[in-house]
Amino acid sequence: MVDKCAECGFAYDPADIPEVGTRIRESATSTAALLTGDDLHPRRTPEVWSPLEYACHLRDVFLVLRERFLAIRRRDMRDWTPMGRDERVDHDGYADQAPAAVARQLLDAAEMFSNVLARTPSEDLALIVRYPYPEPTERTLGWVALHTLHEARHHHLDITRQLS
Ligand SMILES: [Zn+2]
Repeated sequence: MVDKCAECGFAYDPADIPEVGTRIRESATSTAALLTGDDLHPRRTPEVWSPLEYACHLRDVFLVLRERFLAIRRRDMRDWTPMGRDERVDHDGYADQAPAAVARQLLDAAEMFSNVLARTPSEDLALIVRYPYPEPTERTLGWVALHTLHEARHHHLDITRQLS
């Protein structure tokens, strides 16, 4: 029995862990290709991020998780503090960023995360970390890799359903 996201259908199957890096790059490429229209900035409803804001969030997820994987390689096992997903929208000015730049950064961030993941030995993927979101829970690093792919797929959906 694998966990499955009721909203986007993503399944947390440990057998997929070796493919996570490749699939993240593929998903990010698909998402970056969406960042070309002129309807990316406005929020459709006040409480739901715009397509551009979701893309900025996904870029930052890749960058933050890359740092977390590097910390684990150093055996820095301290609790992972939340990334501040909501505060970043304002602190980093997501709504003011240029879509073409965000698309480029998204591809680079996916590549940078995938590179670190590819260099992570399989024994490290079995290490237990305390993952902060949505509730602090003990997870293997392999689960975190799958979760990163889930973030990529889920936010791709968040964007496509606003643009269609
Ligand atoms: Zn999902």
